[in-house]
Amino acid sequence: MENRKTIALIAHDGKKDEMIQFAKENHDQLNQFHLIATGTTGQRIIETALQVELKLSGPKGGDAQIAALAAEGILSAVLFFRDPLGKHPHEPDIQMLMRICDVHNVPLATNPSTAKLILLGLQSEL
Ligand code: PGA
Repeated sequence: MENRKTIALIAHDGKKDEMIQFAKENHDQLNQFHLIATGTTGQRIIETALQVELKLSGPKGGDAQIAALAAEGILSAVLFFRDPLGKHPHEPDIQMLMRICDVHNVPLATNPSTAKLILLGLQSEL
């Protein structure tokens, strides 16, 4: 049983470099949490030496898996770097994830600036 707080990390392809940058800049802070991520995002984050539990890739259902965890109350935050300029075959899953976060009042960041603030807030609760 994981007793650290859990943060989910997701980045669309056009935002993966920003996510890696965020993971590097906030490595020590993120390291205090149990991290889960959609497949491809997670593979990239692992390259920064953070430990990440991998879910399916987004288009294969990874966002839906993370939404389920949000609904179950398992997530302290979702850091979801969306690409507002891209088209995504799994758009319904993306909308569903954001809706579930709002239904269950789960902190949701859709860009690095907000993610940083959420991370600071969560750290102050540790
Ligand atoms: P990915 O999924 O990390 O597997 O690329 C992210 C997404 O597109 O939702």
